[in-house]
Amino acid sequence: MIQGSGRCHYHPDRAGLGVCVECRRVICRECTTQFEGINRCATCLQRRLQAMEGPAARSDWSAGHVLLALVGVALVWGGIFLAAHVVS
Ligand SMILES: [Zn+2]
Ligand SMILES: [Zn+2]
Repeated sequence: MIQGSGRCHYHPDRAGLGVCVECRRVICRECTTQFEGINRCATCLQRRLQAMEGPAARSDWSAGHVLLALVGVALVWGGIFLAAHVVS
């Protein structure tokens, strides 16, 4: 937080309270967003959220799901294998 660093980029009539880590613009209290504990202006937060919902994030998510499915299948087959041995 930088105090008294001028005027908000989006609201010239308001005092700036912080600086956006992405675009380095001075932003007022209302424009400041705290996401992941980092100061961002609303515009950069929007961009950040859109990037997270982008194709890269989605492919990561599905890769994780495939891994989970494989682990689940392995556990089920392992259980069947063990059960068959216990019964016989
Ligand atoms: Zn910004
Ligand atoms: Zn503002």
